[in-house]
Amino acid sequence: MKQEKILVIGASGQIGVELTLALRKIYGAGNVVASDLREQNELLQGTGPYVSLDVMNKEMLHVQVIRQGITQIYLLAAILSATGEKNPNLAWHLNMQGLLNVLDIAREEKLSKVYWPSSIAVFGPTSPKNDCPQRTIIEPTTVYGISKYAGEFWCNYFFNKYGVDVRSLRYPGLISYKSAPGGGTTDYAIEIFHEAIENKHYDCFLQKDTFLPMMYMPDAIRATIELMEAPSEKIKTRTSYNISAMSFSPENIAAEIKKHIPEFTINYEPDYRQTIANSWPGSIDDNVARNDWGWNPKFDLSAMTIDMLTNLKS
Ligand code: NAD
Repeated sequence: MKQEKILVIGASGQIGVELTLALRKIYGAGNVVASDLREQNELLQGTGPYVSLDVMNKEMLHVQVIRQGITQIYLLAAILSATGEKNPNLAWHLNMQGLLNVLDIAREEKLSKVYWPSSIAVFGPTSPKNDCPQRTIIEPTTVYGISKYAGEFWCNYFFNKYGVDVRSLRYPGLISYKSAPGGGTTDYAIEIFHEAIENKHYDCFLQKDTFLPMMYMPDAIRATIELMEAPSEKIKTRTSYNISAMSFSPENIAAEIKKHIPEFTINYEPDYRQTIANSWPGSIDDNVARNDWGWNPKFDLSAMTIDMLTNLKS
């Protein structure tokens, strides 16, 4: 079997750090090249090769792919939902052109696989609120959601027209303790843990009854790697797969934290992110991913809360 050499673009971000470390365990440190526009995250330092790279600079990206002998790309560089609403042009530009640059190079260099995440943000106010299915009405109202939905169809196009083996997941809000979140609407579910431990209080930017689909980072990393390692014939959806683990509201997570930190209090001060959250489903139906390639989450709200608090306290 050919030795794979992987390039992770956006490796210093919330997902990139943990995904790079996980990939290095599987493929060997030297075979996973981390890259980002910003400096290397401290958790990656000394763990393997790193190059400074702007995904918008196609020539530079192409040179690196050839020079490093890259066979797979994981593209994580993007502007997220909340930041995107503040700078729609930049979000559209980066989220679209970055993906097109990677897909073009994957086609030209005949890369073996590409990974690119979509998001539950593709769904809009007209999509079903509960157990939102894989195929349904999709009318996103944020620039982030529009860019992700368009990106899904570019992936599908490159697979059908050029045979690029590109795979994708619609991540829900991802919760982690290792690296900081990057400006999404579900960031509250990370901040709440930090504030609960440091100040025993959290001012939440969403209303208490705002249910959103969420997933603990270890599940998200496992989902990504299982999707990428599945035999090609099992990947029947070439836009992007719904995946799900849990659904909760700020009130639910506050109650769960209170079980471990009884003096914890929460206050609700919704801001512009409430409008974004209101446009998304509260929960996701991921049966297609379960049936096609065997997806199965491990962490629920209670298991995640215990793990987050234990790790953040130490
Ligand atoms: P993040 O913002 O934490 O990380 C993105 C990284 O990309 C950053 O380190 C940034 O410096 C880098 N980057 C930005 N512009 C770049 C450029 N031009 N060239 C190279 N690198 C650049 O984001 P994340 O949370 O790790 O998200 C990764 C992917 O997963 C994104 O596509 C995002 O839309 C998707 N996603 C994330 C979540 C979540 O909850 N975190 C949910 C759904 C989907």
